[in-house]
Amino acid sequence: MRDDKPLDPATIAARAAGAVDGEHGGVVPGVQPATTFRRDESYALMSGGSYGRDHNATVLQAEEVLRQLEGAAETRLFPSGMAAVAALFRTLPDGARVVMQSGIYWGVTAWVREFCARRNIRLEEVDAADPLAIRKALVEKADLVWIEVPSNPWLRVSDIGAIAKLTHDRGGLLAVDGTAATPVLTRVLELGADISMHSGTKAINGHSDVLAGVLSCRDAGTVTWRAICADRQAAGAILGPFEAWLLMRGMRTLPLRMERMCRSAQVLAEELAAHECVERVLYPGLPDHPSHGLAAAQMKGGFGYLMSVLVKGGAEEALAVAGRMRLIHRATSLGGVESLVEHRATIEPHTGIPGNLLRLSVGIEDAGDLMADLDQALRG
Ligand SMILES: *Cc1c(COP(=O)(O)O)cnc(C)c1O
Repeated sequence: MRDDKPLDPATIAARAAGAVDGEHGGVVPGVQPATTFRRDESYALMSGGSYGRDHNATVLQAEEVLRQLEGAAETRLFPSGMAAVAALFRTLPDGARVVMQSGIYWGVTAWVREFCARRNIRLEEVDAADPLAIRKALVEKADLVWIEVPSNPWLRVSDIGAIAKLTHDRGGLLAVDGTAATPVLTRVLELGADISMHSGTKAINGHSDVLAGVLSCRDAGTVTWRAICADRQAAGAILGPFEAWLLMRGMRTLPLRMERMCRSAQVLAEELAAHECVERVLYPGLPDHPSHGLAAAQMKGGFGYLMSVLVKGGAEEALAVAGRMRLIHRATSLGGVESLVEHRATIEPHTGIPGNLLRLSVGIEDAGDLMADLDQALRG
């Protein structure tokens, strides 16, 4: 094997980037629960760190898996996706200008609006998938541009490379929330983004049993990245070692799960789009998706596990369809091995989400079983 050939993501993930139990010879690393670390007789530290907030071997191992999957200079884990978002936004000076994509993950929109108002930061929300709209918004410098690719629940796809260029021309930073794609499908830093963010809670962990967030950078020397790292250490938004260990275990199958989830999602999207009880399916893998070509160029190996299905009728009909599902759980969140359905208008009313929209997160069950469940639920 040649040393200079980068390993495939499937190999990096399956081997947890080489993490093993060095002390006892196990092929799986242990959990390091210690919060404090000993010093020797001359008061020198006996390992790489002194305290759990600065240094934890298990967290470092999980970060290394993500760093390699992302092709990043550095990666930091946080106790949730929102903690990662907050760590980035907290680096902005008062009076900064932020351009944020409209119609994205509601938790981010709501928190960023409140944060920017409180900190006197100018916030402009724009449909980043519309090239003219984003160009107009970036004529003036934005210190930070925040986009979500693909977006949730609209499944819009923005041009990461083009937006990176517009942002950099004025001296700003581009951050991309790639939760719905994962680093397996899209390596946003290679497309020009400065910061990559993921909710590790979703497909990265994939088993609906860990809350985690990730930030990765292209250049570890920027003032922003150094401030993010310093803030995590000093303000203490760190992931616990048991969560990091579970995350690493979940990530061993991330590329495998993504392969299956994308394949099933594509089949379901095509069948649902042709279903007589469905008005429209929003999924970047469908040829009628407005950014299908761009998505094909930006995503490798599939178009993701997330789609929105607009059923015929209104909110009442959509809720009845969801209510009839037997295999697919009615629950929020996405990216787990089990498929989930959510009526978004119930969760975020008055934000323009159509009442007949059901968001579907496709898991690893048999696609035929899932389609049969969807078909019986749609027909009623
Ligand atoms: C879930 C999610 C988040 C927030 O992550 P948490 O881990 O729930 O804090 C941010 N962005 C997107 C796109 C998400 O799906």
